[in-house]
Amino acid sequence: MSDFKVTINCKKCNDDFSIIHHGLIDIDNDKDLYEKLDNKTIFNFKCPKCGGEGIFRFPFLCYSKKMKIIIYFGTKEIDEKKIQGQIEGLGIKSIGDIKDFTTRTVYSLEDLNEKIRIFKYKLNDALIEAAKIWFVGNSDVNITEIRFYEIVEDFIHWIVAYDGKIKGARLPMDFYRDDEKVWKVNIPNQFPLVNEKTLEKYLSRK
Ligand SMILES: [Zn+2]
Repeated sequence: MSDFKVTINCKKCNDDFSIIHHGLIDIDNDKDLYEKLDNKTIFNFKCPKCGGEGIFRFPFLCYSKKMKIIIYFGTKEIDEKKIQGQIEGLGIKSIGDIKDFTTRTVYSLEDLNEKIRIFKYKLNDALIEAAKIWFVGNSDVNITEIRFYEIVEDFIHWIVAYDGKIKGARLPMDFYRDDEKVWKVNIPNQFPLVNEKTLEKYLSRK
């Protein structure tokens, strides 16, 4: 019901074949699909005739009853209205009472995976975004990208890209106070320590 067949024309051998477009992904139970989200291969396909590889990006919803989240992956802003019709056809109501679910919209797999990680650790994503703004504004280096990655032994670990380098960074959980919906103001004024283990894990998924 939530899967659609899409016909693909191979640019290499000009053969037509069909692939499955997954409209609804249950993070808790669709282990194979979640793995493909996590390693960012969900849109990859291979031509059965010549083996030519390609990418077909499609909009979908993913959800977790455990984390009480629904995340819409849009391929472009204009899809929003189109997907709205699909959502109704997807049987989204069958996931139960969703009025206390957190809903988000993302347009990249990096953003999607980061959101899922944030909610897995039961963090407030608005606070995480606020911390990123703080990092970018207060660092001595020119940060081009920063991502929440994981929590290890009471430290929040981040992946930070700057000056053409990718590093792991960390911040003690003490700085995070979701009860007041704010970060403590005394965030350290120096760039946090590199965490090599997190970085290795992150890069191995790339
Ligand atoms: Zn082909």
